[in-house]
Amino acid sequence: MFRLIAFALIAYVAYRLARRWISGRSRSTPVNGTDLGRIDDVMVKDPQCGAYFPRRDGVALRHAGRELLFCSRDCRDRFITDNSNTGE
Ligand SMILES: [Zn+2]
Repeated sequence: MFRLIAFALIAYVAYRLARRWISGRSRSTPVNGTDLGRIDDVMVKDPQCGAYFPRRDGVALRHAGRELLFCSRDCRDRFITDNSNTGE
């Protein structure tokens, strides 16, 4: 009987964590690292203008096999322009 209650508790906690993880993922871009919800608050640097901004607000761009994050679409477009004029 006691084991049943413990199992139900674990299942409930797992269910809540899974829900939180899913809702967190759908709101933001996929994040590398741990699955803690607070990771969304990490600050990243814009490779184009050098400004820092919350990762969740970043504009993503896949470039040369890497994913870059920019503070705005303007910076992303500028980066694309700068990197597309170098030959091929
Ligand atoms: Zn920027």
